[in-house]
Amino acid sequence: MAQIIDGKLTAKNLRAQIAVEVQKLKDSIGVTPGLAVVLVGADGASEVYVKNKAKQTSEVGMNSFEHRLPEETTEAELLMLIDTLNNDPSVHGILVQLPLPKHIDDKKILSAILPAKDVDGFHPINAGMLATGGSALVPCTPVGCVILAKQAKADLTGLNAVVIGRSNIVGKPVSQLLLNENCTVTIAHSRSQNLAEIVKRADLVVAAAGQCEMVKADWIKPGAIVIDVGIHRTVNEEGKTKLKGDVAYDEVAEVAGYITPVPGGVGPMTIACLLRNSVVACCRLHGQSDPDL
Ligand code: NDP
Repeated sequence: MAQIIDGKLTAKNLRAQIAVEVQKLKDSIGVTPGLAVVLVGADGASEVYVKNKAKQTSEVGMNSFEHRLPEETTEAELLMLIDTLNNDPSVHGILVQLPLPKHIDDKKILSAILPAKDVDGFHPINAGMLATGGSALVPCTPVGCVILAKQAKADLTGLNAVVIGRSNIVGKPVSQLLLNENCTVTIAHSRSQNLAEIVKRADLVVAAAGQCEMVKADWIKPGAIVIDVGIHRTVNEEGKTKLKGDVAYDEVAEVAGYITPVPGGVGPMTIACLLRNSVVACCRLHGQSDPDL
């Protein structure tokens, strides 16, 4: 039976370390890291995320700035707010909650955020720096995946890693990070042939396809590390909501060596890594060396 990699506990420990670093910044240079979160419109899931982000930001001692804009906000108005936040010295991290309303071009918005404050790591300059070995701000969920994989095996060098999914938000950056950890990385996607065979060769699997319980037990090499990024809200026959991942958890846990659950795996790491990025951004903006997080 696989050992469970506890994302909730790992995230809690990371937040405790972040709180220490925040206090150090306050004591040493008199600066409080500030994170601005922008929400346009009233998407139910986004509302929950934004609330959680604000709560956890305050809990680690950082300043939290929330900007809630109506659905009919224009692209120009949103760009103006981003410009203001780019120039606000009390703001070190800017996050625009996705998805944005259809009339706003999200690529244009994300590219308008100052790369040094782009704590989501979605700006093309940060993506480019990650790919070329610069000191980028790296997307939060991928960083969380690697931290969790390292809970199973501190040194990932030489592992065959298979990432299922090639999105800019998860698949590509997590592949890049695993390459930096000296894994031999295969990126699979919806056009990959013989996916089960590819995955079966993996010592480390990151499932980020957005397909509920797609990864089955007979795809998994015995003892492999399995990191499940997927989040799917399902309703059972009694009408009860249950979160599931991209991995068929019960059967895969019989074969894998280590596995992240859903919920309680990658999910909690995403906000913790956002706070981490905000502290890193604050340190860099104030000419301090990166914190040891
Ligand atoms: P996208 O839909 O942007 O990307 C999905 C990727 O998976 C694509 O590259 C797609 O291939 C590939 N894919 C789709 N179907 C298959 C298939 N049958 N076989 C192989 N590959 C397939 O999703 P995201 O990357 O944004 O998110 C992935 C999952 O992670 C979602 O469930 C999402 O909810 C979850 N998520 C969780 C987060 C967290 O905090 N835990 C944060 C972000 C996302 P192609 O490129 O060919 O279309």
